[in-house]
Amino acid sequence: WKNAPASFRTLLELSRFHGDKVFLVYEDEHITFEDHFRRAATLANRLVEEYGVTKGDRVAIAMRNYPEWAVSFSAVLAAGAIAVPLNAWWTEAELAYGVSDSGAKVLIADGERALRLASTGVPLIVTRGELPEGARAFTDVIGEPTADVTLPDVTLSPDDPATIFYTSGTTGRSKGALGSHRNIGQAPMTVAYGLARASAVAGRDFATAAAVRRITLLTVPLFHVTGCFSAFITTLFSGGGLVLMYKWDPEQALRLIERERVTAMIGVPTNAWQLMSHPDFGKYDLSSLSTLGYGGAPAPPKLLERITQNLPNRAPSNGYGMTETSALAIGNGGADYQAKPDSIGKPSPVVDVRVIDPMGGDLPAGQVGELCVRGPNVILGYWNKPDATAQTFIDGWVHTGDLAKIDEEGFVYIVDRAKDMVIRGGENVYCAEVEAALFEHPAVDDVAVIGVPHDELGEEVGMVVRPAPGQSITLEELQTFLGDRIAKFKIPVHLWVRDTELPRNPGGKILKTHLRREILGG
Ligand code: ATP
Ligand code: MG
Repeated sequence: WKNAPASFRTLLELSRFHGDKVFLVYEDEHITFEDHFRRAATLANRLVEEYGVTKGDRVAIAMRNYPEWAVSFSAVLAAGAIAVPLNAWWTEAELAYGVSDSGAKVLIADGERALRLASTGVPLIVTRGELPEGARAFTDVIGEPTADVTLPDVTLSPDDPATIFYTSGTTGRSKGALGSHRNIGQAPMTVAYGLARASAVAGRDFATAAAVRRITLLTVPLFHVTGCFSAFITTLFSGGGLVLMYKWDPEQALRLIERERVTAMIGVPTNAWQLMSHPDFGKYDLSSLSTLGYGGAPAPPKLLERITQNLPNRAPSNGYGMTETSALAIGNGGADYQAKPDSIGKPSPVVDVRVIDPMGGDLPAGQVGELCVRGPNVILGYWNKPDATAQTFIDGWVHTGDLAKIDEEGFVYIVDRAKDMVIRGGENVYCAEVEAALFEHPAVDDVAVIGVPHDELGEEVGMVVRPAPGQSITLEELQTFLGDRIAKFKIPVHLWVRDTELPRNPGGKILKTHLRREILGG
């Protein structure tokens, strides 16, 4: 596995064996594996012949979760070029940054994004919407794909670059993460390992578990690694089905699970939480659903309890990963997760982990330091950012910027993001710990803990809470509640009650920088 094979091309060619099975579902559209292959192969040839795309060129994709996203991604990689998925939530200025930073030669966009991209002057292929001047329609470019289409003739090796994904931009400006074909090749293995372990824990053998066709509902964007690697690429490889959503909407998710007989939901913890909180939750037939995989942001330990109550006999799992680790690196599921709901579990077998002190020395079990990850899933580096690359990728290890500890049994616990931690009078307060304690309170629906500047202490602890529908909350009550759970110096002294949703990015992470600015100004 350390030398996971070949290139994305192999996966795409293999996917053709699944022929007439439905691969992608979007609203009423059903696209088979054969359709997807033909369209991707045809587009790959057009990119090479008509747009002069050659090995190593960048082609950006800016779309919501349409089937054409998958076709475009497959085409760009099959042409030997580097796919640059741009964040569909980005403004015109942010999209322009992505285009110029990556030096994209061609853009493939949906109508909404195309309008925001037209001013870049880069050749534009457009699906679903009006064509800005000079742009070409996606359907015109690929015409009627035929059965005899073959992939362009390019030679690729595992270390060739394949993708530039932009990080979520939670802690600063998004960085382009340059991933290789090896990173893609290992992804289905990593997910298969997780499935094998989950099915073993559930008392079934892998073959029996695999006999049920896996239909995945993706509740997060394809332009981040979870959607692309853990859902799209894994489904392409395994022959399952992938149900796409334009955007997250709990009611639509409930409807789709029932209609498409979805077996697995993949997304962020908030998705699972909101699905179960929906007033119509009990009205839908969710009996097909057997696994819920979430990650990308801290999952409150209470989430597992809620799933056990509301969706019994399912296999929930919490996955830890980052753009720099091509999605999943560490995961917790089955009996392990029941026993240690606050852990992100153990590393995937292809991954090594360590926790280090600021000098780079290994820390013993139980001590908090920076988490580092190594393996075939670690990307080549940041695009165009040699300094950031040199600081983050050292001797094959990616320094995650996450504070973690590992217990005697090898389970990893994320304590906080180094940049989120509040330092109150020299004492470290981990926001994630305080948030997890607050989630235990029945009237708390959502929460963010932040540092509030303080003259004497440097920082004080504050919390922004969204109460559950119909509930009210006071600072005193929450402080008393926390008094039984965490040390006094960690208890927030400021409360902001908020009736609207907390600002989150598409990766499910609360935008604390926005929140701090909103609340504290500056
Ligand atoms: P940026 O690097 O641009 O600030 P980002 O780090 O949020 O943004 P991603 O690569 O999408 O961008 O997210 C990776 C981060 O998400 C991890 O470093 C970690 O902080 C957090 N994360 C991912 N999975 C989990 C999880 N299961 N539990 C807790 N935190 C998680
Ligand atoms: Mg990051």
